[in-house]
Amino acid sequence: MISLGIEGTAHTVSVGIVDEACRVLANVSATVRPETGGIHPREAANHHAEKVVPLIEEAVAKAEVPLRDVDLIAFSQGPGLGPCLRTVATAARALALSLEKPIVGVNHCVAHIEIGRGRCKCDDPVLLYASGGNTQVIAYAAGRYRVFGETLDIGVGNMLDKFGREVGMPFPAGPLIEKHAKEGKELQALPYSVKGMDVSFSGQLTAALGLHRRGVRLEDLCFSIQETAFAMLTEVTERAMAHVDKDQVLLGGGVARNRRLQAMVARMAADRGATMFVPEGELCVDNGAMIAWTGLLQHKSGQRMAVEETLIDQRFRTDAVNVTWR
Ligand code: AMP
Ligand code: MG
Repeated sequence: MISLGIEGTAHTVSVGIVDEACRVLANVSATVRPETGGIHPREAANHHAEKVVPLIEEAVAKAEVPLRDVDLIAFSQGPGLGPCLRTVATAARALALSLEKPIVGVNHCVAHIEIGRGRCKCDDPVLLYASGGNTQVIAYAAGRYRVFGETLDIGVGNMLDKFGREVGMPFPAGPLIEKHAKEGKELQALPYSVKGMDVSFSGQLTAALGLHRRGVRLEDLCFSIQETAFAMLTEVTERAMAHVDKDQVLLGGGVARNRRLQAMVARMAADRGATMFVPEGELCVDNGAMIAWTGLLQHKSGQRMAVEETLIDQRFRTDAVNVTWR
């Protein structure tokens, strides 16, 4: 069985093609990069509308699978920006109807877990999902992926991008902050906001920008933001692992590409006799392959969706998904 997935919850539109063995036959993307300011949902949606058809063509050519041999169309149903979600859902419906193939809507956060499970062969991990818009600690229990902890305000990647934008870095700032942090020496005190199992980043952003205005070295600030934010994430991930008694931890989301975050979580895992897994970089960030793969799992477990049931859900909760494939 061959599944084609379209991702388009936020800044990136991506088309992936996977087979039943979770082999990624193609995974191609385009990302909006506004010259100034943040991402405007409607502009991003226009970008996705322009790119989605060329990306489908590119994916099909790369995978060397003619469209008629695709068995399933999957798309990101939520959570995300409304105009972006509607654009990719429309593309998916048009494709499914014209090819007369089944269509399935996929929860974006669940897709980050499933591609990690599929590619890293870890069967039952706690997922630290750290991306631009989302930051959640997720684990499977009794038929659902449960959110054990999450950000109370902005996603960790969003915090990095906003800091970067204010100090003059292009989007996405995460990789540049990682680079600067390597030259950091002096740890600056920033708010360490862990509230039970939840985290919060906006106070840290405000404090870091304040220090920047007072002339603190950028390298020291990048270093301090990483040390503080990633320690918070590692702490709540460890608590979730202890609570649900799991010995695997999986990273997902664009921030999971960060080597310092990986090193901190790896150390925590080693200290508790657990194992850390990180998918390939292109499968950490938002991508179509994870949507294709999760859609394939859903379809194989018997899920079917009529076109009328493919409405998008901007606030699609991770724990609202009935995990019929586990
Ligand atoms: P996603 O939302 O999952 O597609 O991931 C995009 C987010 O990941 C953006 O906020 C980026 O700044 C962030 N990101 C990408 N690479 C890195 C990195 N090496 N370190 C920190 N953040 C990163
Ligand atoms: Mg994501």
